[in-house]
Amino acid sequence: MVKQNKKIIILNEVEAKILLGQAGIPVIDTRLARTKKDAVSLSGKIGFPVVLKIVSPDVVHKSDAGGVKVGLANAAQVRKAYTEIITNVKEKVPGARIEGVSVQKMAGPGVEVIIGMTEDDQFGPVIMFGLGGIWVEAIRDVAFRVVPVSARDADEMVREIKGFAVLRGYRGQEPVKISSLTKLITRISRFIEKNPQVKELDINPLIASGDGVVAVDARIVMKP
Ligand code: ADP
Ligand code: MG
Repeated sequence: MVKQNKKIIILNEVEAKILLGQAGIPVIDTRLARTKKDAVSLSGKIGFPVVLKIVSPDVVHKSDAGGVKVGLANAAQVRKAYTEIITNVKEKVPGARIEGVSVQKMAGPGVEVIIGMTEDDQFGPVIMFGLGGIWVEAIRDVAFRVVPVSARDADEMVREIKGFAVLRGYRGQEPVKISSLTKLITRISRFIEKNPQVKELDINPLIASGDGVVAVDARIVMKP
């Protein structure tokens, strides 16, 4: 947890996932390792394959800094990934404060989606939903609703994006369980209502599949 200059508080990935998990939002099992030895023993507990990621208040885009290694299948790969992550981050973000490395279960295949919350000056908290990657960044194919978001609103949000066809399954890909997605959106809405001190929230990505949904990256900003 880090206090910035204006005293907003930014929760790291591990802290944000704990909070979301307590609110009934499915999150991937994630722990914080402070040493390489820790990372190896936590991977054993979580079960391979695992993902390692940098945890630093100075690194917002972890992959850009070489701070994410996915699909690690054994202890040797975890040790190597740990060293590489620390080396990459020190080189790409000189002086970055490193809290440790998160160790998490590798999620199964699925469609990457994004759920976010920002505060609008006029409407207050607004929830955004879209597909991950270029869909959001380049095409801005997203749906917005003002909190509180009902089950019906959530269902509309999911269906109104152009990328809905991808969620329904295309080229033999398994369709996503839409009911898990809409339930998740309403849970996020309730979480925001119950926690007005949350200023910004980002789940990017949430992995959606035929089995359900799971958040693999999360960021929460709290008001002072
Ligand atoms: P950042 O957004 O800071 O670069 P992410 O945590 O989102 O870092 O990780 C980057 C990408 O790695 C994700 O978009 C996803 O494709 C993949 N990824 C991250 N965590 C997992 C996980 N636990 N299981 C499977 N894939 C993951
Ligand atoms: Mg991310």
